[in-house]
Amino acid sequence: NLITEENTNAKKIRKLVQIPSLSESIPDNIQYLLIGGGTASFSAFRAIKSADPTARVLVISAEGYLPHMRPPLSKELWYGDDTEMAKSLNFHQWNGTSRSLFYEPEPFYTPVEELTTAKNGGISLARGWKVESINVSKKKVKLNDGKEISYDKCLIATGSVPKTLKLYDDANEELKNKFSVFRSISDFEDLWEQLGHIKSIAIIGGGFLGSELAASLANKGKKNGVKIYQIFKEKGNMGKVLPKYLSHWTTEKVRNEGVEVVTETEVENCSLENNKRQVNLKLSNGKNISVDHVIMAVGAKPNTELATDAGLEIDSKLDGYLVNSELQARTDLYIAGDCACFYDKQLGRRRVEHHDHAVISGRLAGENMAGAAKPYQHQPMFWSDIGPSVGYEAIGIVDSSLATMGVFAKGNHKDPSLLANETDQNTLTNKKETNEELVSKNNESISENDYNKGVVFYLKNDVIVGIVLWNLFNRMSIARQVLKTNRCYKDLNEVAKLFNIHGD
Ligand code: FAD
Ligand code: NAD
Ligand code: NAD
Repeated sequence: NLITEENTNAKKIRKLVQIPSLSESIPDNIQYLLIGGGTASFSAFRAIKSADPTARVLVISAEGYLPHMRPPLSKELWYGDDTEMAKSLNFHQWNGTSRSLFYEPEPFYTPVEELTTAKNGGISLARGWKVESINVSKKKVKLNDGKEISYDKCLIATGSVPKTLKLYDDANEELKNKFSVFRSISDFEDLWEQLGHIKSIAIIGGGFLGSELAASLANKGKKNGVKIYQIFKEKGNMGKVLPKYLSHWTTEKVRNEGVEVVTETEVENCSLENNKRQVNLKLSNGKNISVDHVIMAVGAKPNTELATDAGLEIDSKLDGYLVNSELQARTDLYIAGDCACFYDKQLGRRRVEHHDHAVISGRLAGENMAGAAKPYQHQPMFWSDIGPSVGYEAIGIVDSSLATMGVFAKGNHKDPSLLANETDQNTLTNKKETNEELVSKNNESISENDYNKGVVFYLKNDVIVGIVLWNLFNRMSIARQVLKTNRCYKDLNEVAKLFNIHGD
């Protein structure tokens, strides 16, 4: 009944560490059952324990690792010269301090055998175990070896799984072996090891993962002369998130890191070549690229495989388990993190695939499981770092198909007198044409420096629904307050002043 690692990398399937090794040691009944060992689950057990100090919490995680965060896997772990540090999954944070990827060390967790009898309750982890099904009316789950566990309250926090390309799905095993996805610690370890002996990698996808990894791998691969290609269909990196001019600027930065970025292009076909050592990618722009390895960073799909059997509803537009503002799917059954499609009272129905949302929704679910009955109302932020010169934080609905308005520090940011102002598809004044002129004019005439630092507002019916803080930190609480006002501002330059763009 051993399950395999939660990744889809063909041929790289490893037998999992399964602790405890026998399911007899796992309790038959539990007060709080958390399915998934990721960030949402971690945040939920912290909230449950602080609301109910003697709570007995059982976490079932399909991963063979202790609960950990994922963001450094595509960023911090690739920088710095200390290989041993990266191998031990420790990294330097933005403020210089070092920390582990793991939220808590092993001794933090109560051994599962002791959970039922421990005087003050505790948090136990059954790792390498998978919940196969849930019987919602009987309040029971079944593990991969058939063992049943009854619960009082249950959380589903099963996250998401990487999507793959159709040309990969249709490929034979030999070709599949040249492809991978990237989400877990074992994906990181495999790629780290590969980078030691291959000379070229193509990353397919221009979103968060593809863009972060491209910059990180280019930096890491510099010494060994590893060539990094990034291929995607958008016009620039993060094109679905950033306004056109900023996406374009970011792509130039990624190119400066040494990545060969191929925009507005799709991979049409692939085959093995050079004695099967390499993959040939046939591109929609008519060119061919030969590489030693291909990483698919083509989005993630919420992991809702427990839904059908349990009779839980999936959102037809956004995907993910449908829950209310209290994150409830059914009585005593809660959902948090990437796999939850929840109702945000201010911004409407949403699904968010970011770290801080996993923290905030996990915490809310935990509080509600312990009796709080609170709605979702604290807006989560997210961030991304693409190489050393692009870092941003964002809040709300950040989607490049919306009207945007950006204000940037011009040139040397010590000069407080000059602000450049960018509008993309601005519906505020209905002067679409004029504003597009402004963008293109500025794209030609403003030096690269101009987008070093600034703020971008995203608008729906002239109301700010999202904010990006571009290379601008420690201002998230201001952004949160602006978003909360939920109103139409006449002069967004005035709103931008609140952010004191030249302040540090
Ligand atoms: P996950 O972290 O995916 O955890 C889900 C858990 O459920 C896993 O342990 C899985 O094995 C387990 N599971 C699934 N099914 C079962 C089952 N049936 N039984 C038992 N266990 C099961 N966000 C940001 O905001 N900023 C970043 O910089 C950032 N960087 C990222 C970098 C990478 C490489 C990746 C992959 C993601 C990044 N994210 C970032 C996104 C963020 O990590 C996710 O949004 C977050 O991990 C979601 O947490 P979660 O708990 O919902 O899901
Ligand atoms: P994404 O949705 O951000 O980007 C997907 C990219 O793949 C886009 O460029 C898209 O055009 C492309 N794509 C989609 N289908 C394709 C196809 N059939 N052929 C070619 N290209 C295709 O997702 P991602 O970058 O893969 O990230 C995976 C997950 O990890 C997401 O949940 C993401 O939110 C999360 N993540 C977040 C961060 C962050 O918040 N900083 C960092 C890394 C990963
Ligand atoms: P937090 O709750 O904001 O962050 C929790 C976790 O997310 C931490 O592991 C942190 O390292 C990570 N994180 C948050 N924002 C990040 C970002 N922009 N880039 C990389 N990782 C990030 O708590 P905190 O870490 O104590 O942050 C306190 C304040 O500092 C926040 O306002 C945050 O936005 C800011 N910050 C600034 C930078 C920077 O590069 N100057 C980086 C991170 C955080």
